[in-house]
Amino acid sequence: MESGHHSEGGDPACWLGLICPACGRVREDRTTSQCENCGEELDEAGAGGAA
Ligand SMILES: [Zn+2]
Repeated sequence: MESGHHSEGGDPACWLGLICPACGRVREDRTTSQCENCGEELDEAGAGGAA
């Protein structure tokens, strides 16, 4: 038993870059580079890391 109700939608890693590192909130609007929850500035340019 390693996963019960895990795979439901898509790949969570797909929107990992949309998660605010400051508050952990997922940005719905990826067009903005600023968290609408805490106002943390996010860099989309760094989304990817090790290709
Ligand atoms: Zn935030």
